[in-house]
Amino acid sequence: MADFIKLFEKKVAASIKKYNLISKNEKVAVAISGGKDSTTLLYVLKKLGYDVVGLFINLGIGNNSKENLKRIESFCKNNNIPLKVFDLIKETGYSMVDICEKYQKVINSTNCAICGVIKRYYLNKIAREIKVDKIATGHNLDDEAENVLLNIFSNNYELCLGLGPKSKENSSDLFIQRIKPLCECLNSESKKYANLIGFDIYTEICPLKVNAFRKDVREMISNVEKSKKNIKKNLVNNFYMILNKLKAEKNYSKIINCEKCSEPSRNKICKKCEIFEIIKKQ
Ligand code: AMP
Ligand code: ZN
Repeated sequence: MADFIKLFEKKVAASIKKYNLISKNEKVAVAISGGKDSTTLLYVLKKLGYDVVGLFINLGIGNNSKENLKRIESFCKNNNIPLKVFDLIKETGYSMVDICEKYQKVINSTNCAICGVIKRYYLNKIAREIKVDKIATGHNLDDEAENVLLNIFSNNYELCLGLGPKSKENSSDLFIQRIKPLCECLNSESKKYANLIGFDIYTEICPLKVNAFRKDVREMISNVEKSKKNIKKNLVNNFYMILNKLKAEKNYSKIINCEKCSEPSRNKICKKCEIFEIIKKQ
């Protein structure tokens, strides 16, 4: 048991070093959802000696958000970790449930895609306001492998470019770099770590998460894995190598300030404001 805990922590430290994710004296906001991965990540980074703060976006998804917030507050208190909570309903007047429902009456999209845009927007805005250098998310190796295949199967080149252990460096002072220190840890490993340390995790799946395609891809990967080991690692490692070349070749459009909210954007109006424009008309 002690061996596994040490090995897991070493693996996270090795990924941070290998991909140069965090430098000494940098402050890291860990985007914590209350799930096993982000709770494990916050705990391990603190244990490795990094200057961390938890950052939770309360999306107002009924009981789910309430139960997660309760556990995150006591986790941070017990581990002496500062916590910043952003309340979507208080700040915007809308819950994620309202946003998804209203937006999808007009635009064909998925709950997870809409939620992803809103979460990324506020994580970046708050992280900048509290003056951290990095935003760490709990994405693990299984998530990365699924995302590689999902984006390729969907012919989504732009989303493919968004993958990898860290987002583009120095793209703008207004964008805080996002990092994934668990990108080489299997889902089963972070689950085992969380169980061994004994985190109090709310295990109900988010009621907005209804992605049949992701489920199919996950099942496909686990089927292939029966006859060939290490496919997730091979797939993600190989993709990361290709990704480096693709990112170097890509001509990124200039980052400007959104005309509505002044946050950084590659278009005149940012994605978050585009969504709010539409739902406000409903
Ligand atoms: P998901 O997109 O739900 O699979 O979550 C991926 C990662 O995003 C998690 O590991 C967290 O780091 C982060 N995250 C998800 N939901 C939240 C939230 N409500 N507040 C802060 N971070 C979150
Ligand atoms: Zn905007």
